[in-house]
Amino acid sequence: MTQASLEQRISKLIRPEVRALHAYQVPPSTGMLKLDAMENPYQWSDATKQAWLDKLAEVEINRYPEPQAQGVKDRLRQVMGIPSEYELMLGNGSDEIIQILAMAVAGDDVCVMAPEPSFVMYQMIATFCRIDYVGVPLDSQFDLDLGAMLEQIEARQPALIFLAQPNNPTGNLYSEEKIRRIAEASQGLVIVDEAYTAFTDCDSLSLLGDYDNLVLMRTLSKVGLAGLRLGLLIGKPEWLGEFDKLRLPYNINVLTQASAEFALDHYELFREQTAKLRQARISLIDALQQLPQLQVWPSEANFVLVRSLEKPAAELHEALKGAGVLVKKLDGGHPALAGCLRINVSTPEENQRLIEALKPLL
Ligand code: PMP
Repeated sequence: MTQASLEQRISKLIRPEVRALHAYQVPPSTGMLKLDAMENPYQWSDATKQAWLDKLAEVEINRYPEPQAQGVKDRLRQVMGIPSEYELMLGNGSDEIIQILAMAVAGDDVCVMAPEPSFVMYQMIATFCRIDYVGVPLDSQFDLDLGAMLEQIEARQPALIFLAQPNNPTGNLYSEEKIRRIAEASQGLVIVDEAYTAFTDCDSLSLLGDYDNLVLMRTLSKVGLAGLRLGLLIGKPEWLGEFDKLRLPYNINVLTQASAEFALDHYELFREQTAKLRQARISLIDALQQLPQLQVWPSEANFVLVRSLEKPAAELHEALKGAGVLVKKLDGGHPALAGCLRINVSTPEENQRLIEALKPLL
């Protein structure tokens, strides 16, 4: 087969919107100070690691996993204080949950809505599932533009509305009042995505009881278990029963189940680490604010949004890479993020290394 005919075969079979996509970019990071992916930088003690390995040694790798991962769900319910009237559904990261939600509503004339800029997978997954996506710009403070949201809800009647609380990549919280108004105006399902809930005092659990069309999504990725890939959806059993039909059997593998059970039995460790990161966030924001070449936004998450006011962000991003520091370049992704970079909050030592690397490059 010649090269041309291979291209033709592909363009005939693969949908144009898929061909137009760029795969989610994960840059190489070996040997770098990694501040680009909202990971928790803390390691476990040797004793904790050994206890975890002992538990893994008991896993029967030749057997299929427990399909409902009930042991994991019970512990999540306990650790997160999830009332018994709500059901849980687990996903291979919350990314998989977004995909399940999209698959459940996909059809002609269906759309998914999210404020913009926000987490890019809402739009990407809508595209994967052939669903129209409606992005509604946030206001100049990155807050929800309630008027614009309500207008678009009325006009487009979205099946799903994703609200990241706090938002990625802007780091801010929306007011509860605005979330309520959106839930009240919507015939569709509102998903409050609390991926960063461990880094803020705010949570929306209490809203679940007030609205039939609202569910919560969370993940263990940001608290220190990004490698596990475990996300959860929390909501009324009637909704979750429908979504659960689309979950692939055994989506949470035996090693993830055993590791998550172990981690949740030691959740105090993660509480301590996230408390340290919240403390480190204060000093990091303070140090960044002292650099006049940067605009710095407040954050309720484990990252900080900054705008480079003098050097082009792409150059600064490259220069930081050259200095061994990897942050996320947002410039070029969305007009509201022109000149912006997103920087992970890390240990005080790593935050200091970032500041020292940054200073001569601005
Ligand atoms: N929601 C938001 C708002 C996120 O920022 C992320 C990760 N960047 C996710 C969901 C997905 O997290 P995971 O798939 O690791 O659970």
